[in-house]
Amino acid sequence: MSLVGAGPGDPELITVGGAARLAEADVVVYDRLANPRLLALAPATAEMVYVGKMPDRHTLRQEEINALLVECAREGKRVVRLKGGDPFVFGRGGEEAEALVAAQVPFDVVPGVTSAIAAPAWAGIPVTHRALSSSFAVVTGHEDPTKDDSSIDWAKLATGVDTLVLLMGTARLAEIAQQLVEHGRAASTPAAVIEWGTLPRQRVAAGRLQDIASVARDAGIGSPAVTVVGEVAALRPELRWSDTRPLSGARVLVTRTRQQASDLSRALAREGAEAVELPTIEIIAQADPAEVEAAIAGLRTSAYGWCVFTSANAVGLFCGHLRDAALDARAFGRAQIAAIGPGTADALAREGLRADVVPERFIAEGLIEAFGARVMRGQRVLLPRAADAREALVGALFGMGAGVDELTLYRSAVPRDADAEGLRRLRVGEIDIATFASSSSVRNLVEMLEGDVAPLRRLRIAAIGPVTAQAVRDAGLEPAVVAATHTVAGLVAALVADAATSRPPAP
Ligand code: SAH
Repeated sequence: MSLVGAGPGDPELITVGGAARLAEADVVVYDRLANPRLLALAPATAEMVYVGKMPDRHTLRQEEINALLVECAREGKRVVRLKGGDPFVFGRGGEEAEALVAAQVPFDVVPGVTSAIAAPAWAGIPVTHRALSSSFAVVTGHEDPTKDDSSIDWAKLATGVDTLVLLMGTARLAEIAQQLVEHGRAASTPAAVIEWGTLPRQRVAAGRLQDIASVARDAGIGSPAVTVVGEVAALRPELRWSDTRPLSGARVLVTRTRQQASDLSRALAREGAEAVELPTIEIIAQADPAEVEAAIAGLRTSAYGWCVFTSANAVGLFCGHLRDAALDARAFGRAQIAAIGPGTADALAREGLRADVVPERFIAEGLIEAFGARVMRGQRVLLPRAADAREALVGALFGMGAGVDELTLYRSAVPRDADAEGLRRLRVGEIDIATFASSSSVRNLVEMLEGDVAPLRRLRIAAIGPVTAQAVRDAGLEPAVVAATHTVAGLVAALVADAATSRPPAP
């Protein structure tokens, strides 16, 4: 049983220990402020239990949550209690630990990055600063500050601490600000309210103690939000960074397969974008066992001079077939290995294989150029690939005098369970940029839109390379960005460069 801090929202802000606990979980008990995307770190077979409190109704009472944790642990399951931010900073983690102790359930605690520090940090506000603040206090803003039995000593906090961080609720902000001023804090003290800190939807309202409540109200700031009061709040204009990145505010559609989407999503998020994943491709393994067997036998007997991989999927599936046959990388024998680009080369590296050739241009034509310098005449080439792959490579290899054995390993298809949310956001115009990393992702998305490409006309389209760009044109659309380097990093770099010229600067 582990009490794990999920961090404040950005899925990268979970700890290494927290991610490891999730990876081993049988049951994950989570609430509203733990980013649901973190659930993907748990095994697909793990049971997910939502016990979040909705702002207007309580789904499960705290005692019920405690009882549930005890019950799951007693069943011998590995339970992760995933709590937003740090489990022991408000959010009643202490009470859950007490319940576990009372029930004699062994547990550990994996602290998390608390929103009290992270949300200000993302707004460009350090909670301490050598010249401005040598202390900070994290205080609940939930209690009515005018009540006599309040457990918070506002009189002492008003002047006793340099930076005040208020969690839970902006509803009482006006009363709290007034209490602080009445007890001696300057009304002109800088203040900021950060809603949904560390997430793409983060919003910040800045003002002074005297007006911060009305500024936040006028901006429509709701829950969850953190309020910072103190001189450090004045550093925001100089230090703000998360909402002034090249792609800040941009909602970017990621159309790769579910398995391949995360690299691109992460790279986009680093540049400030909100990545909206809408998988348009599903890889369906499809191979004739006899053909696979013959191909492997050919490799082992050195019948093939070359084995050419044109996708990471083909590498994974082919090596899977080797494993099924109780073989490993040695089956490649003396055959040389070519990869169409760095992504495929990385997939090979993960299997312990080094590509002998990776062309400078990461398209089939690049591979042909790379081979041009080598003597291919009379060579036999094994080409494990997709059923619907391009013909250019096979033709060119034949032209160079090589014999080619194609081995079909998979076909790509339009996903059967299309991600409704991504598609909905595309249709209603909640996407600014669509990215495509392959021609089939373009064709499949058009199919998913039932041929109506109107939603794609409203936004900027970015293609990973010329072949994908042509597929965009074939769909009757115009790519605004074509990456010069046909990799995920190259695609993101092209979007960043495009944003510098095409987007207005942040307000
Ligand atoms: N354990 C959590 C806090 C739980 S109390 C932590 O350490 O962060 C819930 C309060 O945390 C919310 O009302 C809000 O004030 C704050 N909070 C949590 N996540 C937040 C976020 N992403 N942005 C702003 N405030 C957040």
